[in-house]
Amino acid sequence: MRICVVGTGYVGLVAGACFSDSGNHVTCLDVDAKKISSLKEGKVPIFEPGLDEIIHRNVKARRLSFTTDAETAIGPAKVLFIAVGTPSSEDGSLDLKFVLGAAKTIKEHLHGSAVVVLKSTVPVGTADKVRDIFKGFKHTIDIVSNPEFLKEGTAIDDFLRPERVVIGTDTENGKRVMGELYAPYLRSGNPIFFMSNRSAELAKYAANSFLAMKISFINDLAMLSEKTNADIREVRNVLVTDSRIGKKFLYPGCGYGGSCFPKDVKALIKLGKDFDHPLEIFEATEKVNEIQKKVIFNKMTKHFGKSLRNKTFAIWGLAFKPMTDDMREAPSVDLINLLLDAGAHVRTYDPVAMEEAKKIFANRIEYFNDAYETVKGCDALALMTEWNEFRSPDFDMIKKDLKTPVIFDGRNLYEPQTLRAHGFQYYCIGTRTAE
Ligand code: NAD
Repeated sequence: MRICVVGTGYVGLVAGACFSDSGNHVTCLDVDAKKISSLKEGKVPIFEPGLDEIIHRNVKARRLSFTTDAETAIGPAKVLFIAVGTPSSEDGSLDLKFVLGAAKTIKEHLHGSAVVVLKSTVPVGTADKVRDIFKGFKHTIDIVSNPEFLKEGTAIDDFLRPERVVIGTDTENGKRVMGELYAPYLRSGNPIFFMSNRSAELAKYAANSFLAMKISFINDLAMLSEKTNADIREVRNVLVTDSRIGKKFLYPGCGYGGSCFPKDVKALIKLGKDFDHPLEIFEATEKVNEIQKKVIFNKMTKHFGKSLRNKTFAIWGLAFKPMTDDMREAPSVDLINLLLDAGAHVRTYDPVAMEEAKKIFANRIEYFNDAYETVKGCDALALMTEWNEFRSPDFDMIKKDLKTPVIFDGRNLYEPQTLRAHGFQYYCIGTRTAE
């Protein structure tokens, strides 16, 4: 099929690359000229394991190309994916200007009948708004809602082997085309669900908000565990062995971040308000997360006394989760801002997110290429992303290089007894370890 993907971010680039890898001809269109020229030079602008290889293979086979020229990309396409960003606006609603802008661009340049697919995460009713844009258009347009469930860090595998594919459409042609397009990825028998556009739009928010709710649930209990001198790790063991509850997304930590959960929970809350059904469960989810993002800073303040002025902190891990360079809404960003506001100095290390960090903090913090260099002369180390390389570090080396042997662990990576045995004061989440 001849496909155009509008927006070459984490979702659009992965979708474009994977669709081309199964034999389709894909043109990726973006308004960001810098991004497109680096893609044309063979440089992949995001860190996503396995993506480079797929892109290079398909560019070489002439099935995948990149452009800023809407006419070339859109004109001959038969399926057009809108995969542009959907940032939150001030009131928590989604700013749909990129999505609606992309739809208008498609209308302007499209030569014939086509399927227009909303891959961006959008509120209920957005497909109708896009349909309105095409009213009176001279060719037939099927509007499909196809929310994306990939996870950064495992995006390729998620895309090639999705647990399910969701297709919202009210046309037979929309169903047929999407069924054909996704067939190669569903050979193991995973389902494709056809439904209304509105159900598809809501299903995506339901899934993400539920996962965010699980995180806030365990974090809230973790804080109660600290107050009551219980241990959240022991409580968690009981929860996760109940098959009705399940094991995933129940790790206490310093809050959820990323480009999806915070934004999607906010958007669902706003949707509830708009439809006169306040979603208190997700209002609480968000509120707990806001508190949780400050939990490491509060522990630092409690440990060091009133002022953190002129204290120096090493931070390991900046990305919002491992295996990505994405720092959007990362808990590390909240912590660093709080530390800078308090007059502290910050030294940082992340295996892949340093370039992203420089875009956010410029020269307000220090950057190191080596985890151990980062801790030299610091008053404490804080761990904010659970990268594998932080799991079994050389604690003796850390202790030698820190001014005082204190570790704040925002991801509960270490065993309190081990850290105590190494002579650290160790703070983690949900377990009273050091006072
Ligand atoms: P992103 O910010 O990484 O990329 C969006 C891209 O769209 C940018 O490169 C931007 O320049 C481009 N763009 C904006 N307007 C354009 C236009 N009119 N024409 C062409 N290009 C345009 O965003 P992302 O993380 O890929 O997310 C895209 C959507 O997918 C969002 O709605 C997001 O919620 C959803 N989503 C994201 C993930 C994820 O893990 N990142 C997962 C599932 C769903």
